[in-house]
Amino acid sequence: MKVFHSEDSLLHAPDFYFRRGRRIEHLERAERYEVLHRAAKTAGHEMLAPADFGTAPLQRVHSKRHIEFLATAWARRDEIEPGLDYVLPSHFARAEMHRYPDGMIGRVGFHMADLSTPLYQHSFDAVRASANVALSTAEAVAADRGHAYGLCRPPGHHASTESTGGFCFVNNAAVAAAHLQAKLGGKVAIIDIDVHHGNGTQIIFYDNPEVITASVHADPATFMPYYLGYGDETGGQAAEGCNLNLPLTHGSDDAVWHKAIERTMRFCADHGVSSLVVALGLDASEHDPNGALGVTTQGFRKAGQMLAGAGLPTAIIQEGGYLSEILGENLVAFLAGFDEARR
Ligand SMILES: [Zn+2]
Repeated sequence: MKVFHSEDSLLHAPDFYFRRGRRIEHLERAERYEVLHRAAKTAGHEMLAPADFGTAPLQRVHSKRHIEFLATAWARRDEIEPGLDYVLPSHFARAEMHRYPDGMIGRVGFHMADLSTPLYQHSFDAVRASANVALSTAEAVAADRGHAYGLCRPPGHHASTESTGGFCFVNNAAVAAAHLQAKLGGKVAIIDIDVHHGNGTQIIFYDNPEVITASVHADPATFMPYYLGYGDETGGQAAEGCNLNLPLTHGSDDAVWHKAIERTMRFCADHGVSSLVVALGLDASEHDPNGALGVTTQGFRKAGQMLAGAGLPTAIIQEGGYLSEILGENLVAFLAGFDEARR
């Protein structure tokens, strides 16, 4: 399989974030890129560098001011306080407080949904590289109507129209979907199998009947992203019935997870989609530090086989999945399953 990746992913290397009010070691470590890269390369996949698409394609799914904020935040950090090592908010714009302030302190809290996305000197270089990986993957898929994998890091599915969150800055899967649609026309679907609900993706396309979104994830009642991801969120006024959420009981195993994936595939087929983005989180693993679902390595292999069975041009975009002994193995299993079913 064609695997797009960029060493620039390593340029964003956060070492901490705040979780449940405590400052702890960051889960979305730069090393994830090395582990996933090594695993894909060792498995014999075709490793490819991305092209540079610039920032215009990012504005298909994000506001111009969100991208400008990400691009300039580091240079303007002294406006918050001289000598900062990273940019992070101390105030947040709530839904009922949505004026766009001139000052940087207010803007940081406008564009960041939580405390998990500290922005360092070269973070935006990594974010751009990750988006270029997604775009190159979509470009390759559109060219031969086949499938390819984008090793995107940092991940993307929690980033919404104008907000970062959950380790994500730019929504790579959404960027890939918009690119596939621009190239191939027709409806595109995003099936998100990360253990967390793809809230950013849902928000971006909620009123768009041409992009069908489906997410299988651990019940958000007690789990990130908490405020979205429930079964009664079925699409906005202009796209009623175009969003499917399948929250699963914590601890669910392969069988339950596969059944939910099967439902997302039927949902997308019913909408007559002509291309697919798989938002591939590997954090549903039984060994993931998130510990929310119990998916095995064989379970990832079968998921790959199932999703390949849709027979659609498919861009597989890396989302979450954190360091464990089995992270690389799970990626290889999923890609092998996908390849097997397409042979
Ligand atoms: Zn996740």
